[in-house]
Amino acid sequence: MAAREIKKVPMFINNAKVVSQSTRVGPVWNPSSGEQIAECPMCTPDETRQVIAAAREAFPAWRDTPVVERARVMFRLVSLLEKNAEHTARTISLEHGKTHAESIGSVRRGIEMVEFSCGMPTMMMGDTTHNLASDVDCETFRYPLGVCVGITPFNFPFMVPLWMMPLAVAAGNTFVLKPSEKVPLSAMLLAELCEEAGFPRGVLNVVHGDKECVDILLTHPDVAAVSFVGSTHIAKYIYETATHHGKRCQANGGAKNHLIIMPDADVDKTVAALQASAFGCSGQRCMAGSLAVAVGGAGDSVVENLVAAANKMKVGPTDRDFNADMGPVITREHLQSLEAHIDKGRKEGAKIARDGRGLKIEDAPNGFYLGPTVIDYVNPNMHVARTEMFGPVLSVARVGSLDDALAMLDKSEYGNGAVIYTRSGHAAREFKHRCGAGMIGINIGVPAPMAMYPFSGHKASFFGDVHIQGKDGVRFYTQQRMILSRWHGGAAGEFVTTRG
Ligand code: NAD
Repeated sequence: MAAREIKKVPMFINNAKVVSQSTRVGPVWNPSSGEQIAECPMCTPDETRQVIAAAREAFPAWRDTPVVERARVMFRLVSLLEKNAEHTARTISLEHGKTHAESIGSVRRGIEMVEFSCGMPTMMMGDTTHNLASDVDCETFRYPLGVCVGITPFNFPFMVPLWMMPLAVAAGNTFVLKPSEKVPLSAMLLAELCEEAGFPRGVLNVVHGDKECVDILLTHPDVAAVSFVGSTHIAKYIYETATHHGKRCQANGGAKNHLIIMPDADVDKTVAALQASAFGCSGQRCMAGSLAVAVGGAGDSVVENLVAAANKMKVGPTDRDFNADMGPVITREHLQSLEAHIDKGRKEGAKIARDGRGLKIEDAPNGFYLGPTVIDYVNPNMHVARTEMFGPVLSVARVGSLDDALAMLDKSEYGNGAVIYTRSGHAAREFKHRCGAGMIGINIGVPAPMAMYPFSGHKASFFGDVHIQGKDGVRFYTQQRMILSRWHGGAAGEFVTTRG
């Protein structure tokens, strides 16, 4: 049988697909089947510089394009994204393994960012004060920065680039996207749709690669700002390197999100929320619940019902089965690392209440599957209580009081999301004000903000000052200038030299 041809993913420069000359490449998998579907180049330093140069050359004309015209391009992008949502979702499911519903949901969330960016003519408005001092007026304007870079993770191949690019571009910047080398196909689709929407040459460019490529983006003098989403140790490196080289930087890192269950919580609704939070997107979400903290005896019924609900979930190949409740994880290496985490929990003395390891899917025997897993009786010092595993694994700890639960949260290295399930307004209020996480939910599955609010992680979940999304996003991609002007007084009539 002839070997199947592996698709080579091109770069996107000046609205053209360009094949990289790099000899270094990485595999792109279909995690549902375990087959390689494409080859992603690790673009060379020269190619990376060419991409930056394209964005640099495009900047002056795009900056000078009226903001209402830039917004019109974004309106056209919204309608194209809607028209292509189904095809896009299939590509996301193919290279990432999300269920069809999850992929469609992520496209929807991405579209909301583009819709939000259509308001840029209003969002870029400055302030003015007439006669701040004698004959002096004061005004502020917002200007774009130049070339902005986005470096994105594997877990939301289409949505995370849209957390960044629309606000940057609508504000008048040009953009270089460096998507995860594990999922470059969705990013290429986005670039094609942007061209169709009327992005001029060089306004959005895509380069592929790993550290070598990223290091050039972080240090190149023509790059003004860097947005990053990924794991904590890389986020810290990105922030330190980019800021050391004089760039603005916002870097989102990993997470260990705590879900606090009070004894008065509605068990059925809480279990449904926990199930969606921990096992949705196969747990590969920075806002996934990964540590449930059951207060005062809430643990038994929650774990029992959660295991029963997980037993009914259909795990399957999301590239062909649109009814699967959960898909695979991203790579075989990631599957193996998740299996090792679970084993470590067992060795540390936790009880594996549901073990998803060894799951075999009949028509996809080589896919990267881990069934929903629940690790019970976890204590705060255990590896599985502290470490971000990034898979469909929920650890459960049991504590005596809300204070104990908050103390556990406080000790966590991370500060992305945290949720409380309760019927008590008092407990919810205490939690809301004392919890150190940046995105807080009350009786919510995943408290991820919509486009108009900031994605506001803290501690080791975020490095920077100004968050992604919302008004913070507009501030990040613009530079404010203040202008004071004095025009000495005189009667208006003195300017009239002739009478008509
Ligand atoms: P990752 O850190 O491995 O990769 C992210 C990006 O960094 C990729 O584009 C990758 O090519 C690049 N990269 C990898 N190693 C690098 C290096 N040594 N130097 C420079 N660049 C490098 O993350 P991932 O595995 O793709 O994504 C999962 C992680 O992302 C999880 O930790 C998750 O919590 C996090 N995440 C965070 C948020 C958030 O908003 N806080 C959102 C989504 C995902």
